[in-house]
Amino acid sequence: MVCSDSYGFTRYSLMLAKERVSCRFYKKSCIFAAKFRKNRKQSKFKIKMAEDVFKKIVSHCKEYGFVFPSSEIYDGLAAVYDYGQNGVELKNNIKQYWWQSMVLLHENIVGLDASIFMHPTTWKASGHVDAFNDPLIDNRDSKKRYRADNLIEDQIGKYEEKIAKEVAKAAKRFGDKFDEAQFRATNPRVLENQKKRDELHARYTEAMQGPDLAALKQIILDEGIVDPISGTKNWTDVRQFNLMFSTEMGSLSDATNKIYLRPETAQGIFVNYLNVQKTGRMKLPFGICQIGKAFRNEIVARQFVFRMREFEQMEMQFFCQPGTEMKWFEYWKKARLAWHKALGMGDENYRYHDHEKLAHYANAATDIEFHLPFGFKEVEGIHSRTDFDLSQHEKFSGRSIKYFDPERNESYVPYDVETSIGVDRMFLSVMCHSYTEETLENGETRVVLKLPEALAPVKCAVFPLDKKDGLPELAHEIVDNLKFHFNTHYGDPKDSIGKRYRRQDAVGTPFCVTVDHETPKDHKVTLRFRDTMEQERVDIDQLRSIIEDRVSITSLLKKVANEIKNY
Ligand code: ATP
Repeated sequence: MVCSDSYGFTRYSLMLAKERVSCRFYKKSCIFAAKFRKNRKQSKFKIKMAEDVFKKIVSHCKEYGFVFPSSEIYDGLAAVYDYGQNGVELKNNIKQYWWQSMVLLHENIVGLDASIFMHPTTWKASGHVDAFNDPLIDNRDSKKRYRADNLIEDQIGKYEEKIAKEVAKAAKRFGDKFDEAQFRATNPRVLENQKKRDELHARYTEAMQGPDLAALKQIILDEGIVDPISGTKNWTDVRQFNLMFSTEMGSLSDATNKIYLRPETAQGIFVNYLNVQKTGRMKLPFGICQIGKAFRNEIVARQFVFRMREFEQMEMQFFCQPGTEMKWFEYWKKARLAWHKALGMGDENYRYHDHEKLAHYANAATDIEFHLPFGFKEVEGIHSRTDFDLSQHEKFSGRSIKYFDPERNESYVPYDVETSIGVDRMFLSVMCHSYTEETLENGETRVVLKLPEALAPVKCAVFPLDKKDGLPELAHEIVDNLKFHFNTHYGDPKDSIGKRYRRQDAVGTPFCVTVDHETPKDHKVTLRFRDTMEQERVDIDQLRSIIEDRVSITSLLKKVANEIKNY
């Protein structure tokens, strides 16, 4: 973005010089140029700040045992990561929260665990062999590879951003009298940018239908899209790239043994639809949910665990009567957003993004985006997949996948609404939102992970103040009682109490308990709260009841249940 701006600015200055514009216009242009430089400086600064914060989060994840580069002793493997001792706990809590929100809060949803390897025809039927491609383009100067569709979508986003800025500026200027609809319909700058955005969008949609690779490249050239690194337009042609990893099964390496690592977990559900429906005597509407690994040979793998080549998905397919799918699509849009919001990470950090370009199987699709340090990004997709998948598997397998509906007295292939969320992206959203640096009254900096309490890897740490007077034994006794109810750790007294608190802050432990020399006498301990650092003297017997409710997944589920009962 920065490079494209600077390029535009240079071009604009040259134009002014060449055309010997009038003095008045020249002055205005100078003011414009100065403002432009200031804005550019500010936006560069903001980008730099966001990059710095993101870098800190990545190194924090490594330093505190959340995420390590895969096979790091061999210098790692691009876009593949391992979760460490704290990361796996946080990830498991996210999965548990999701799983229980599906199977406990919905009587008509059941689980499944399908294998990663599937019959190769699955991927022919689903369309992945022929259509799971991304259009890629290289910049010859930076030697970087991009998704052509992403470059164009970013450009569309820039026009939208310009419009939003105009609207925000006017809203500020006119205050209560501001009529946004009228402003959008009449303001020349908004209209001009809207026109450019709509024309670009129409060309892009048409080019993606085919997809017409030459047309995609032409759009990139016509829009003057430059490489963000080299700042040049020295692009190669656009090529198609299939994202599925393949391997051979058995000892013979020929084409007939070629199988794929699943690029989504959904197909495992579709091929088991009949098994589950029949053995579970399921009646429509009903859902099947699954958590598992998926693999994509991503062209541009970047932004840490946001885009990986091996990742984990939590998917649910909700089968329903044809004609009711839009009702269920709306239900799941709201229910899934309620699940996110119950975590208390700020309602303003979420938004829907309805898809302009629908996948070949969908008749409606939307993303739930979360505000990450590098902008609003997709965390979850909700797709109305029609009867596409089940019909395709019926066609390719020759087996009937029809449902006999006793109410309608007819058989049909059910329609399907999918909710699909990446565990790793969810993990990243939680980490980014929770990472906080605070300056304390004594001038020291405290790094604290303000994780939603129910997701924290460790819920409570118990510290003996020192090694003497039976304090360690008493602390162990408290751990032994609490550990059956939530994850409780013992903190060795070799470090000062302050250091031990800091370490727990850095891994997001919501409660610390200190056993001191008074404890054997009054049966009381000091309970410290992570976010406020406030301390309270409480009886040992009260610990469980104070902590348990706040850190249990049940408390989150209750919030969700309360919300979705109105939908
Ligand atoms: P994107 O447009 O970012 O490539 P997508 O639309 O292809 O994502 P889906 O196929 O809808 O993603 O997958 C569902 C979810 O799986 C996404 O919302 C995301 O959370 C997760 N996901 C997809 N690809 C990756 C990946 N490479 N790394 C991590 N998570 C991923």
